[in-house]
Amino acid sequence: MYCEVIVDILSSQVDKIFDYLIDDTQNLKVGQRVLVPFGNRFVEGYILKIKNTSQMETSKLKKVIKSLDDFSYFTEESLSLMEYMIKAYNLRYGDCLRLFVPSVIRKNIKEKFIKYIKIIREPDFKLNKTQEQIVLYLKQHKEETLSTLNEKFSSSSIKTLIKKGILGEESKKEERTPYSFCEQEKNNIVLTDEQQKAVSTIIDKSPNTFLLFGVTASGKTEVYINVIDDTLKRGKSAILLVPEIGLTPQLFKRFTSIFGQNVAIIHSGLSDGEKLDQWLKIKRGECKVVIGARSAIFAPVENLGLIIMDEEHDTSYYSQTNPRYYTKDIAKFRCNYYGASLILGSATPSIESFFEAKQGKTILLEMKKRAVSKKLPEIHIVDMMSEIRNGNDSMFSRLLQMKLKETIDKNEQAILFINRRGYSSFLRCMECGYIPKCTDCDISLVYHKEDNRLKCHYCGNRFKVITKCPHCGSSHIRLGAIGTEQVEAKLKSLFPNVPVFRMDNDTTSTKNSHINIIEKFNNTKPSILVGTQMVSKGHNFNSVSLVGIIDADLSLHYADFRSTNRTFNLLTQVSGRAGRTSLEGEVVLQTYCPKHFAYQCVKNYSYEKFYEKEINLREVTHFPPFSKIVRVLVTSEDEERAKEYLGNFYQKVCELKCENHKRFIYLGAMKSPLKRSKRQFRYQILMRIENEYFDEVIEKIFNINNSLNQKNVTSFVEIDPQNLS
Ligand code: ADP
Ligand code: ZN
Ligand code: ZN
Repeated sequence: MYCEVIVDILSSQVDKIFDYLIDDTQNLKVGQRVLVPFGNRFVEGYILKIKNTSQMETSKLKKVIKSLDDFSYFTEESLSLMEYMIKAYNLRYGDCLRLFVPSVIRKNIKEKFIKYIKIIREPDFKLNKTQEQIVLYLKQHKEETLSTLNEKFSSSSIKTLIKKGILGEESKKEERTPYSFCEQEKNNIVLTDEQQKAVSTIIDKSPNTFLLFGVTASGKTEVYINVIDDTLKRGKSAILLVPEIGLTPQLFKRFTSIFGQNVAIIHSGLSDGEKLDQWLKIKRGECKVVIGARSAIFAPVENLGLIIMDEEHDTSYYSQTNPRYYTKDIAKFRCNYYGASLILGSATPSIESFFEAKQGKTILLEMKKRAVSKKLPEIHIVDMMSEIRNGNDSMFSRLLQMKLKETIDKNEQAILFINRRGYSSFLRCMECGYIPKCTDCDISLVYHKEDNRLKCHYCGNRFKVITKCPHCGSSHIRLGAIGTEQVEAKLKSLFPNVPVFRMDNDTTSTKNSHINIIEKFNNTKPSILVGTQMVSKGHNFNSVSLVGIIDADLSLHYADFRSTNRTFNLLTQVSGRAGRTSLEGEVVLQTYCPKHFAYQCVKNYSYEKFYEKEINLREVTHFPPFSKIVRVLVTSEDEERAKEYLGNFYQKVCELKCENHKRFIYLGAMKSPLKRSKRQFRYQILMRIENEYFDEVIEKIFNINNSLNQKNVTSFVEIDPQNLS
């Protein structure tokens, strides 16, 4: 017999399938991890197929050494999903299999077993003093771990008793659980009419794809819980995805209180041991509900009945580094395979998803009211230009200062949102205009006062703070636009007695720091939380009555056709953190362009108005969903080589265009807006392709990409890139 194996080596030369010999006694199965000879060494690989014939000469084939586990990593479904991804995104097997086999397994992390000792037979001989103590201790405690016994008594006496058959050993698996607060809570929530209707429609019309369009705090989580409950009752499993790992602890707590041990969690913040134990529990079918961020879509769940993507508009669902993929594509594939339902949930659905729902391709479910408070927070737009005209050049408008004070006096909480971490966006010499930049990236450095360093937010490089301009020698150095650190500092000087918490990438880099900040904030009244977009995503705060948006315009002016849409989503989401339960909420939105259409829509909660304008614009200009955007990103440390490669690539795409002009709406080659990052020069080919020709064109572009070769140049074909910098 023969088998096809993909070896676990990342290199484009060996990224293909190899045939190996096997014999029946090895009892190998498809999807198993095996050890195989490769060149002059042994490597790990995965069996993709077992077959009776091979194109290769048998004498040239080597034999599989052995299997490495007693189970298969790949099912028929995951193998076909892998094939699909390789084809759809032009991925390598080596990159793709890493999504299905967790790194802890490839690192050889093992399950943890602990030895327990207990009495298995009454002693029938005279015990010495130590032995007597041990037996007495075990009679009182029934059993004890070997390590504790060894600490308390002499280990040689314990060994003797084991040898004589008085004591017995038993290995028990120790489960490494990520969170300890899984005690059962009572669930006495009665669904609102809107929630009830959503739940029963989903159950009635399953399997199907649903867009659950529910305003912030409409109680989407309760809908998910009820539909998952139904899924479990039908003997099937469910995956719930959230956009950010910071959201998983809260959800995990809520879910274990309802589904108990049936819930597993997957995210990058877990320790290696925890990751392995959670993964194995899912693999063995012990947990039927999986919660996690993007990568949890690859959870080894069989018999899927439901996938939920909460905050489906969130860009974190796009993997923007190798291996590049879009979670929604994967979710659709898996749902199709199993005949499962897909629920996309959001208060601000992506334009693409809402378009699909409007066309009737998916089922639209609406929840227009908040579950508890019923009222959405009132949003005040403040014109910061007129603040300056009135002599207030502080980062807080007079209205925001007043509302902050009221909130504190009422013993409630506020969130201040500013989508920039650090103290200030840059330092600038006021004499010659010099701004310090990263040596490896084409980007100005951000000033972090806490570490007294200038940091590059692209590559993490750190530099000394300048007090004198290296260019002209002037010491007239000014700070750029404000970031979270500066807002925090300003609050502490304005309200010295009020606790201020900060949540951004700098304060959440260690394990559990995320949940710790949230729990501390939740338990402190009054208090203020300052943060980046991290505070906007899905969190459920109970006592927040005020949200302040310090600089709403931050994401508005990017040269990206999605920037207005992103701004609308972000501001609606962050506003939605106020007044979620019994308190009424209010929002102060500070901007220099108060009349902007996006802000008016945010203020009036008119998603549909915003959608109408956006979709019309996209139709007229032929942007997605009315076309597909593809970017070929070419990077190299050697700028000339990158340019040369780009030229060759562009030439070939132009030939494609010449064959049939109708295929392309736009085609151009240029420097990337971010010209250099991590020492790599960046060039790109941008194209918009007519939907009906997309499949045909993308295949040809992949072929060009795979056929062209230039030393020290990397190129990637990105479909629907979310970040055009
Ligand atoms: P969403 O995900 O739609 O923003 P959540 O699911 O976080 O909203 O719910 C917001 C708040 O409303 C939570 O505190 C939740 O416990 C509460 N809630 C939701 N549904 C109900 C209900 N039917 N009865 C009482 N409270 C509810
Ligand atoms: Zn200068
Ligand atoms: Zn850098």
